Amino acid sequence: MSKTITVIPGDGIGPDIVKSATAILDKAGCDFEYEYVEAGLTALEKTGELLPQNTLDAIARNGVTLKGPLTTPVGEGFTSINVSLRKHFGLYANMRPVLSFKGTQARYENIDIITIRENTEGMYSGLGQKISEDGNEAEAMSKITREGAERIVRFAYETARREGRKKVTAVHKANILKSTSGLFLKVAREIAEEYPDIESAEMIVDAACMRLVMNPEEFDVIVTTNLFGDILSDLCAGLVGGLGMAPGANIGKDCAIFEAVHGSAPDIAGKNLANPSSVILASIQMLEYLGMADKAEKITKALADVIESGDRTTRDLGGSHGTTDFTQAVIDRL
Ligand code: NAD
Repeated sequence: MSKTITVIPGDGIGPDIVKSATAILDKAGCDFEYEYVEAGLTALEKTGELLPQNTLDAIARNGVTLKGPLTTPVGEGFTSINVSLRKHFGLYANMRPVLSFKGTQARYENIDIITIRENTEGMYSGLGQKISEDGNEAEAMSKITREGAERIVRFAYETARREGRKKVTAVHKANILKSTSGLFLKVAREIAEEYPDIESAEMIVDAACMRLVMNPEEFDVIVTTNLFGDILSDLCAGLVGGLGMAPGANIGKDCAIFEAVHGSAPDIAGKNLANPSSVILASIQMLEYLGMADKAEKITKALADVIESGDRTTRDLGGSHGTTDFTQAVIDRL
């Protein structure tokens, strides 16, 4: 029986790039059924809700979701839908790999880094946000738990072992954020001892930013807290040619959601200009998660060949073509 995948086309450029990814999955012979549901602005306009119950039900039922970027309306009262999804389904690990493809406009050629970001705790989780009545004081809370730190650091080492990687670097700011980042680092050091086969390193986040730009080959797997992971993974995307090349997987115990790292790109929405590689790469991550490594490899090769040869590539890759031509170029190679 074919596997059913929940598909959320999303907002802005989402529907176009997700359509590109599903067409490629189909052409590669993946034999998926798709259950389409809505979230974000598109859902709000149709149902009055950003995350309708039937969307949550479909994500839970099928276990695996491919998702386009979602627009969170600006203004009070709207929590980020992505943060809500991660919390609701306990998607504690955000895995953001970046890999150099020949033919991009990137400054480096041999980047292969995975940022593993804790996805549910820390500064990013929106706890305790308060603004004083006069609007002159604002505060927010950051909470790190031993349980949260342990499971993400262990996830990073297990990923490193599974993928035959050599080194895990824990990125922190324990010198200043002594309680929260301090706990994360303490736990990271403890877990590191359980993995003597993998080299362990630690680095303060500001130094990590500089070293990523100057010596990215020093990094293999990065494990870090939520907000630092958010920022570092965009930096890493820049090393391989920009957000159009950056996928992300949100993984929990029972569910996983695969998506692009970037947002809904309202500036280019509806113009057939978006590079669909981010969601194609997310669907490759999804295939690996589902144990379909042969299909993942087949699509990776086709995508790499399109980018390297410059055949019908999008503007951000130095070409002059649109999303549909680029998709067709990948399909032609499958
Ligand atoms: P963005 O990531 O949408 O866009 C940043 C820049 O990158 C823009 O210039 C855009 O044109 C470009 N870009 C992004 N994806 C591209 C692609 N595939 N091909 C070519 N160029 C691409 O960031 P933003 O404009 O700050 O955010 C827009 C909306 O997206 C906001 O509502 C934000 O909340 C939301 N957002 C959603 C997610 C998500 O759903 N995972 C992530 C980040 C932002």
